[in-house]
Amino acid sequence: MKRLLFISLLVHIMLFPLMSKGSFAQVDEGGKPSLSIVIDDLGNHMNGTEDILNLQAKLTVAIMPFMPSTTADANAAFEKGHEVIVHMPMEPKVGKKSWLGPGAITADLSDEEIRKRVEDAIENVPHAVGMNHHMGSKITEDKRIMQIVLEVCAERGLYYLDSKTTGKSVIPEIAEELHLPYLENNLFFDDTYSVSHIEKQTQRLENRLKTENRLIAIGHVGVSGPMMVTVLNRHIEHLKEKAHIIPLSEQIEGSEWLR
Ligand SMILES: [Zn+2]
Repeated sequence: MKRLLFISLLVHIMLFPLMSKGSFAQVDEGGKPSLSIVIDDLGNHMNGTEDILNLQAKLTVAIMPFMPSTTADANAAFEKGHEVIVHMPMEPKVGKKSWLGPGAITADLSDEEIRKRVEDAIENVPHAVGMNHHMGSKITEDKRIMQIVLEVCAERGLYYLDSKTTGKSVIPEIAEELHLPYLENNLFFDDTYSVSHIEKQTQRLENRLKTENRLIAIGHVGVSGPMMVTVLNRHIEHLKEKAHIIPLSEQIEGSEWLR
């Protein structure tokens, strides 16, 4: 009797996960690649924000700290089921410091001031579980500064997305030393501001989904925001057929970083 019970329990345990997920879903979804769509530059009432947040897919939205709609955008995104990350402004090689907005990381800051600015930014963006940078081609090549930025992320349990605004980023090396979960951008939707370019990039993304298992693509609100909305509205259902659209944190789960 005991043995029978054991067998029936065993059968139940073996079958239950399949049944609970739904076997059709497993057959349909098996082998689909993962895609994360990241939208940068929220937090300043930027064009396209509301429509982006209304898209029927789990996006990751990068919100700038200390801006007029930082809190409102973070809360709205979270309530609609999107993932929130801090869009940390960092000094670029070319461009004015004034473009960066408040609380930015610049190369002239002391170690203490950098740490304080990163901590304050994380506290200023509700629901944030990760970070990427706004601009930052100068800072992300700077070991002293990125060491501090990434240490704070590690202490606070945030992952880091390198949008790769420079070819000489020190982020991978430092993240590895710190065992910080770290991801890289694969494609920008809107590096040129036109619907036809964003369409072309989306087509490129779809082609890459045929051969690559995990992809991360970044777009923006602001000047290109309404164009992003137009193209994503046109293609989101199709992209959902081709890939699992998941937030960045789910790309990390099961990656080598957490093993
Ligand atoms: Zn940005």
